[in-house]
Amino acid sequence: MRPIQMVDLKQQYKQIKTEVDAAVLNVLESSAFINGPQVQSFAEALSRYIGVKHVIPCANGTDALQIAMMALGLQPGDEVITPSFTYIATTEVIALLGLKPVFVDVDPKTYCIDIEALQKAVTPKTKAIVPVHLYGQAAKMEEMIKFAVANNLHVIEDNAQAIGSDYYFSDGSTKKTGSIGTVGSTSFFPSKNLGCFGDGGALTTNEDELATTLKMVANHGQSKRYYHDIVGCNSRLDTIQAAVLEIKLKYLDSYIESRRKVANYYDEAFLENPKIITPYRADYCKHVFHQYTLVLEGIDRAGLHDYLVQHNVPSMIYYPVPAHRQKMFASFGTGAINLPVTDWLAERVISLPIHTEMEEEQLHYITSNVLKFLN
Ligand SMILES: *Cc1c(COP(=O)(O)O)cnc(C)c1O
Repeated sequence: MRPIQMVDLKQQYKQIKTEVDAAVLNVLESSAFINGPQVQSFAEALSRYIGVKHVIPCANGTDALQIAMMALGLQPGDEVITPSFTYIATTEVIALLGLKPVFVDVDPKTYCIDIEALQKAVTPKTKAIVPVHLYGQAAKMEEMIKFAVANNLHVIEDNAQAIGSDYYFSDGSTKKTGSIGTVGSTSFFPSKNLGCFGDGGALTTNEDELATTLKMVANHGQSKRYYHDIVGCNSRLDTIQAAVLEIKLKYLDSYIESRRKVANYYDEAFLENPKIITPYRADYCKHVFHQYTLVLEGIDRAGLHDYLVQHNVPSMIYYPVPAHRQKMFASFGTGAINLPVTDWLAERVISLPIHTEMEEEQLHYITSNVLKFLN
């Protein structure tokens, strides 16, 4: 049996080595390291895949969120509603731009932003909502978009964990996550479902004018060379990364299927266990399982983690400290916020290895060790 890792990037690379090596060598030989033609061709391929008019590549997923908020013209003091139960990047950029993060609770089944809670959190200062498609499952977008349109709010989809996920609307139509809100942001961090060989990110939108502004913000606010109309930043996707992504995008659907197979195996092994809550699968979307995360009821989580470590099985806690309990946000009066579902999750979640190269033997070994600890 191969050693078990949370994500096995080396094994995945081996499968596409010939193709990827040639593409990278091609960039080296052309030496068009910045804005080489692969950046544009990858952006076009991704826009076709997601079914969105514009894809604006950038340096990473955190930048993508920041660029979205800058391009939407959010001003210091504006309020942005976001779940507290997410990776820090989602919430950090809000504060970085002088905006006010308004943390709301998550749905106890999907662990994504709770629609009722976000509706209650709106004030006259609210300008945007940032839903996070956590662990690879979409937030409830249909209701959210209706509410956002009625209340004149922007929706920035944090799609870093759910690229490729389909959303099924009640009228029978389907859209991919990242094409539903005003703008979507995603990350190509190596361990993400579509990962490059370093840092990378992108923005997705159907709005022409916004796309132009996003492009400008990512490029020093430049309208034409050396003419800078608005304050921007420098955030680019390297040509080498774009070349890698162009190849990996062709495999994204098969990567997603591999992940879903792993999730099915885990589900089956744990389904009958009353102490384990397996991931809920909302009927409105396709879960792409960036993570496979269990909620443990009445089980010593640290004990399970240590037991697995002793048996060479890694596991992770995503995320042990929710945003509203981070020192970073203390000045926003977060000490007084009560988010019971978020706190319940932060104490009980544990994520097991999931990636595209897992073998049945490994899955058998992992699940039998988890179950051994429980019995
Ligand atoms: C990974 C991630 C990001 C940030 O992406 P980077 O490319 O690491 O900057 C943002 N939001 C979520 C939910 C993520 O998982």
